[in-house]
Amino acid sequence: MQSDWKSFLAAGTAVPSADEPLKLSDDEWRKRLPGEAYKVLRKEGTERAGTSPLNAEKRPGVFACAGCGLPVFTSEMKYESGTGWPSFFTSIPGVFETKKDFYLIYPRTEYHCKRCGGHHGHLFDDGPPPTGQRWCNNGVSLKFIPKG
Ligand SMILES: [Zn+2]
Repeated sequence: MQSDWKSFLAAGTAVPSADEPLKLSDDEWRKRLPGEAYKVLRKEGTERAGTSPLNAEKRPGVFACAGCGLPVFTSEMKYESGTGWPSFFTSIPGVFETKKDFYLIYPRTEYHCKRCGGHHGHLFDDGPPPTGQRWCNNGVSLKFIPKG
């Protein structure tokens, strides 16, 4: 599932790779991203639960970083967690970096795009089999590319 993720791209779709870093100034990001996406991706904000149209997205395809276009999940990795945020039980390999944050009392694992550094969400260990992972992602940090 992790190795064949490219089969979820429509033929001829060009996507960047994690090895081509995208570095922009804060001003450039602010211009490039709509308000909510800027707040989440660049300031580690969290969108309101249940607000993302991607919660209901069930078509085959690829979810890419809204900041830089790097593919990060496929439709096959998505599941309904009931949290109100798009949730995934694994990711495309090598696309995220993690760090611990302490915004709440207990430490959480924050993850962000390896290519542009944009914040996506938090990783929890209460997901479904086979991984037990729950990648709880802000919908505004993602851009869906349908295969069809
Ligand atoms: Zn990115």
